Amino acid sequence: MKPVTINFRSKAAQTLADAQIQQSIEHVYTGFFKGRLLAAAETDNWEDLRTKGKAIKDHTIAHLDYYLGMLADSVEKNGGRVFFAADAAEARQYIIDLAHKRNIKTVIKSKSMVSEEMGLAEAMNTEGFETVETDLGEYIIQLANETPYHLIAPAVHKSRSDVAKLLDDDYKDGDRIPDATELTMMARKKLRGVFERADMSVTGVNFAVAESGSIALVTNEGNGRMSTTVPRVHVAVMGMEKIIPSIQDLSTMLRILIRSATGQRISTYVTMVNGSRKFDEEEGPEEFHLVIMDNGRQKLLEDPQMRESLNCIRCGACLNACPVYRKVGGHAYGWVYPGPIGAIVSPVMTGVKDASNLPSASSLCGACHDACPVKINIPRMLLELRWRTAEGSTDKDERTSSAKERGIWKAWRVGMMGRKRFDIGSRLANLAMRPLAKNGWLKKAPPPISGWTSTRDFPTISARSLKSKLSKRSKGGK
Ligand code: SF4
Repeated sequence: MKPVTINFRSKAAQTLADAQIQQSIEHVYTGFFKGRLLAAAETDNWEDLRTKGKAIKDHTIAHLDYYLGMLADSVEKNGGRVFFAADAAEARQYIIDLAHKRNIKTVIKSKSMVSEEMGLAEAMNTEGFETVETDLGEYIIQLANETPYHLIAPAVHKSRSDVAKLLDDDYKDGDRIPDATELTMMARKKLRGVFERADMSVTGVNFAVAESGSIALVTNEGNGRMSTTVPRVHVAVMGMEKIIPSIQDLSTMLRILIRSATGQRISTYVTMVNGSRKFDEEEGPEEFHLVIMDNGRQKLLEDPQMRESLNCIRCGACLNACPVYRKVGGHAYGWVYPGPIGAIVSPVMTGVKDASNLPSASSLCGACHDACPVKINIPRMLLELRWRTAEGSTDKDERTSSAKERGIWKAWRVGMMGRKRFDIGSRLANLAMRPLAKNGWLKKAPPPISGWTSTRDFPTISARSLKSKLSKRSKGGK
């Protein structure tokens, strides 16, 4: 699994200092966040839909083995092949081997966070296949050699002139900035030829329907439909949680996904794929493969405190609602999944130690919980992960706190649990702080608590408690 290597603090500081990115990511609030509220208000039963969506996902995740088996049978009945991959490396290898066996030259990709998780485009390019993203945002990110910034808007941080520079080698600062339609036409012109010569496609999966073996893809650009009909081989990749039992469930899930993601009532395209082309059909791939990847999801499934995160339908609403994401941006989260949901799944999937800053990158305001169409209680899980990094749960390896830090908090807890101990502790703390404080304020605390005063002053702890001051006053003292 790709390790989390980016330091949250330094990456967040860079983004905070970048006025252009700050302006660009504001769109997630003005566009997506407000759009979701309007789209939800249009339905007179939004809360019922959310409750229904949560019930569908709770039920499916509780019976995941059963529904995965049913999905595999249904896909095979439709003429497709199913491959279960334990991790990203296995999934990549399956697709690369298949491409070699079928003598593939050009692979087109439609937007898929799971393929990002696999590092698929990079691996396929290294193997010598021409691999091109066809979602406009993903294409821009591929040209910029970056990772997606947002679950549904990978290039939301790019300005129009950034995009023009990436799409047009001759474009220079100072030239007229093309409008969005012109930029789209520039990308379209470049991508047309790729679609025509592609002999394999890799797409994501928004929902896989167990009873019918259908794959639902939600797009606004039509690239998903082109990718699933033009090349002779179609490979769909999904995390094992992207499953729902029935077509009836799909109607609920599409309503909440699309409204929560872009604020649309329905996306421009909803493509349903039912295996490979049948003998009486004129269009469609000759071969259909479904790659179902675990890659750490089993860990989430086995963890009763974290299992709920598998209900995620990757709509991005929690990112748009999050005051932290809207300032620090997507790259600060270091791995494929940014924002509040990324702060939960990344630590569990990649290891808490490697992503220990992420659970603390939240004000715990609860906006993500309110926004989530399947009611995932993100703040509860963030608190659980904070506890694990501080204290360590059953797995001591999850701890990132030092023995000294734990010792300080232990002493604090003991001190807070008795009146006398509290009073003595306050007096001792006051004595320790006095030589370092000025006019009652500590400006620079010593290690290991120096972080507390890095951005604010700390008032010296009073030698006497409020209770003793009040009792003195009631006895006539000052
Ligand atoms: S946690 Fe909820 S709001 Fe966030 S991406 Fe997943 S489904 Fe959407």
